[in-house]
Parts: sequence; structure tokens; C-alpha cells
Amino acid sequence: MESKRLFGTNGIRGITNEELTPEFALKIAYATGSFFKRGNILVGYDGRTSSPMLANAVTAGLISTGCQVYNGGMAPTPAIQYAIKHHRMDGGVMITASHNPPQYNGIKVMAKDGVELPREKELKIEKIFFNNKFQLAEWNALGEIYSKLNVLETYIEAVKRHADIEAIREKGYKIVVDAGNGVGSLTLPRLLREIGCQVLTLNANVDGTFPGRPSEPRPENLQELASLVKTVKADLGIALDGDADRAIFTDEKGQIHWGDRSFALIAKHFLIENPKETVVTPVSSSQLIKDVVDEYKGKLVWTKVGSITVARTMLKMKAKLGGEENGGVFYAPHHPVRDSAMTAILILNIMVRTGKRLSELLRELPTYYIEKGKVECPHELKQKTLAELTAQVKNLKVDTIDGVKIWFEDKSAILIRPSGTEPLYRLYAEAKTKQRAKTLLKKYEKTVRTLINKLMDRSIGGKPKRFHHQS
Ligand code: MG
Repeated sequence: MESKRLFGTNGIRGITNEELTPEFALKIAYATGSFFKRGNILVGYDGRTSSPMLANAVTAGLISTGCQVYNGGMAPTPAIQYAIKHHRMDGGVMITASHNPPQYNGIKVMAKDGVELPREKELKIEKIFFNNKFQLAEWNALGEIYSKLNVLETYIEAVKRHADIEAIREKGYKIVVDAGNGVGSLTLPRLLREIGCQVLTLNANVDGTFPGRPSEPRPENLQELASLVKTVKADLGIALDGDADRAIFTDEKGQIHWGDRSFALIAKHFLIENPKETVVTPVSSSQLIKDVVDEYKGKLVWTKVGSITVARTMLKMKAKLGGEENGGVFYAPHHPVRDSAMTAILILNIMVRTGKRLSELLRELPTYYIEKGKVECPHELKQKTLAELTAQVKNLKVDTIDGVKIWFEDKSAILIRPSGTEPLYRLYAEAKTKQRAKTLLKKYEKTVRTLINKLMDRSIGGKPKRFHHQS
């Protein structure tokens, strides 16, 4: 039987005061503090209604184990992560549910390098938690709370160091920032103004109810940004998620570009300036990334899906650039974590160095059509389905880093992957034409559905068919 888990693919998540109560947060902090053994821990939180409550519970739990807590306050996740490294903390805790709906919140635990803990360390915290092996301190050895860190200023200054400030100032770009009422409101507009951009904002007041738009910067949520960019004749539109680690861009025509395109653009110019470097991306990313990395003579490393895996792989391979299709870009010369402000600076640097508009720059990239689908699958059949599927396609060109990815001769590909949280398989087909992507998706949806149905019949067939009365 699988052991109980606290941490999902991206920290601990739950609905406020249902799963995620102050009591639960306190216990997580007992376990985390016991793991860090009286270390110096930075605690930060996003703009959700429940974030101060949970941050206070976490702080209480940490000081009760003898840890010293540095209060980083309300800040973007990447700002807290940077401060952990910059101030040489022993670790950090961030209260955030990223782009989830407002009733959710979450807890992320970071190592001293500011990157989320690797899986084996999460397991240690889980073990302390489930066994109640908390190391609470004596009354005279409790931790203290310090609150004099300028997390936001330190972060803005650090990101600015990677910007071509003089050239950007000279251009005087007009930029619309849609912060989605998230914590990016506190940093990105200010950062861009400080480097000489003219900034107009949308939803740039922190509000944990997310009144402006859903917190995830998906194209369907960004119509207001797109039309505002056109109306005010801006050079660029930037949309953030709730904790400001992801950025999605619109060009000057108000066209929204999904994250694999902005990441491919960054990868291209990064490789032009840094030939032969390694670029890290999950298997869910577009073939576009591979085309660009091949063309500009880089080395591409595919990973499992999940930002922690991308960041930890980058550190291991000393890679400077990583990215995800959802708009998360990792730039190690600053910090190998997803960072929307750093991503915005990389895009501006490209615009200023090439003298081109974003629409032109993106037009130069190859085009792929992506079709997504899903097939229901009970949790208990996920692994069997995967095994059967892998056997079925073994004569094709496949990659099994995470689910099954099949590559075809005509540069089309399909990724078939069990969801980590929901009872379903997700399919991502892509091809040079929309028709081919659709056909591919349909074909493999059918294959997966047939496989699952067969497995279900078999598992039902194996059980007694008659109900028995309980005695
Ligand atoms: Mg996020």
C-alpha cells in the first residue's frame, strides 16, 4: 500500500479551514521545524485571505521547535525564494496556493538554496509528521521572530541587475501588467517603472478574493489585458499568476502567446549568446523547444513534469535555463526557480537587443498546433494502464520519463500521462497541422479508453459477482 503523503507535486495544498486549518499548519510547522533543527527559517506568504492566518500558525510552530523565524511578509514566491538564498537562511516556508481558486491555500518548504526541498527531504518531514516525532523546545529555548528583512527591495534590485537598463530606458516601452490581484502587484509594476518603462496596470491591487480574473493566466482569462494592450498601443502585455512565479505575454497586437512560445523565444536568444548550454524542460513541453534548442546547438534535457524536478535537475546539471509550457521560466544566473519578473526582463532584453517587436520575434519561431484531451481512469488502474500502453507502443520512438511520450516522423508527438491528483489520463497531441494533432489525439484517446475498459472488465471479472449478506 502506498504510504500517506503530505506534499503533492507542488507543496501541500488544500481548502482553507477544511483541509488546511491553522491546527494542521501548526503541525506541519512542528514537523518542518524539527527537520530544520533550530535553524533560521524565512516565512513568507501570498495575498490570499487565509495567508496571514496560516503564516502565523506556521511561525508559532517553528519557534516552538526552537527555530528562529524571519518574517518575510507578503511577497511573490520567487522573492521569498531569493531572500532565503541571499540571507543565507537554513530554509524557508511559503504560504501560497499559486494559481488555485481563492478558497485554496498551500505550504511550500524550501531548502537553504531557496529551491523547494527535494523529494527525499519532504519524505523526512512527512515521517516526522505522521509519527508525531516533534522536537519541541524547552520554555527557555524557544525561537524568536525577526522582521527587518527588505524582501521586496532586495528582490527587485537583484532582478534589475540582469536587465539592459540603459537600453530599455532609452526605448521607453509602454507595458500593461495584469497582476491578477496577486502578490506580483507589489513588485513587477515597480520594477518596470524603475528601469524606465511606462507601466499601466490591471488588477494590480492585492486582493485574496481575486475579483479581477481567475488567478491562472490562461488565455481565456486574459481578454481584458489583450484589448487594453491594443487600446493604449502598448509594446507588451504581461499577465501573472497568484504568487507571481509564472508570466504569460501578449504582443503589441494584443495576441496572447502561451508559455511554450515565450520560453522557446528566450531559449533561442539564450543559446545565440551562450552556445552549447543545457536547457531543461518537462516532457509536457512542446516540440518547439526541441526545434529551437537543436537549431541553436544547445543540449536539451527532458524531465518529469513539476517545477521542483526542473529546478533540481538544473542544479544537478549546472544548467542556466529551464522552462515550462505554463509560463514558468527558470534563469539560474539569477536563481533556478520559476520567476515571472525575471522572465519579463529576459523578454525585454531580447526586444531591446534585436530592436524587434514581440509579434515579429515570435513569428520567427516554428508553429505547432496543440490539442489536449483526457480519459477517465480509476487511480488503481493507472499503473497497469501505463504498463500495457508502454508495451503496446514499444516499437515506436517513445520516452517514458513521465507517462508515455511518442514521437513521430512528421514531427508530431503525443504525451499520455496519468494525472497526479485526478482519476484520469491527460493527453497532449501536437503537430504541424491542426488536423494531424486532432487525429492523433482521437486515435490515442481511443487506444487508452479501450485499454482501461479491458482492465476494468478484467478486475470486475476477478471479483465475486454476487453480493454477500454480512453476518
Ligand atoms: Mg505560481
